Amino acid sequence: MPELPELEVARKTLRPCVKGKTISDVVVGREKAVRTPLEDGRAFSINLNRHRVTEIERQGKALIFRLDGNMAMAFHYKLGALAICRKQQVAETAGVAWNFTDGSALEFTDLQLSEFHLGHASELTHLPVMKSGADPLDPALTPERLRKLLPPGKQLKAALMDQDVLGGIGNTYSDEILWNARLSPFRKVSSLSGDEFSELARQMKSTLREAISGGGEEEFRDAHGNHGHYQTRVHRRAGEPCAHDGHKIEMVKKGRKTFYCPHCQV
Ligand SMILES: [Zn+2]
Repeated sequence: MPELPELEVARKTLRPCVKGKTISDVVVGREKAVRTPLEDGRAFSINLNRHRVTEIERQGKALIFRLDGNMAMAFHYKLGALAICRKQQVAETAGVAWNFTDGSALEFTDLQLSEFHLGHASELTHLPVMKSGADPLDPALTPERLRKLLPPGKQLKAALMDQDVLGGIGNTYSDEILWNARLSPFRKVSSLSGDEFSELARQMKSTLREAISGGGEEEFRDAHGNHGHYQTRVHRRAGEPCAHDGHKIEMVKKGRKTFYCPHCQV
């Protein structure tokens, strides 16, 4: 499932192919991915037509396409999808495509559980997919502020993944951040010292930035179809030696899978 780094790579690579362009027509091959208006591909197309894309933003695990006329479309990847720039218009698709007046297109494919929501910008803010806590990369998110935000009774991994608290961190990057910070995913937030909060805040930002510069995880593809090349250090690496100390990485499954090194993550 794409998380903040993949969303940021998608936003950056999609921006030049959509910003300022006007939609000439919309092809909907997968009507069930259109959630607002509910499974109504025709209304979705009509409401998008002739609108100009003014900006593309990332909010938690969703991409927000700002349109003129105070409209917006939220795209939530969910399990994964491909949002790709096309030099030519798309006549037919198994997903959803926007054709632009300049002859290019944006195509969304491999949609699985992905969702599209289209409406007035103010209406969309009420949708569950739009709910999002603080942006982990916001410079205003200091260790002190992080300490105030994270629920004290929660375990660290669950707290980092709480989308009401922080937007965009999921199962993969919570493991990576905690390994880099050498903190156990099962520690309670309230047990952290001031220094540990500083290290957590620092590693949260640097882990996410490193993944962004690596183009995200390998299975993710950017707007030009290029795969990411960020290699996880601990996530999905059970049984492999920890790069800090050579001890075996372990996996614990409680609903979701957690990967960590019990030796250095304390
Ligand atoms: Zn270790």
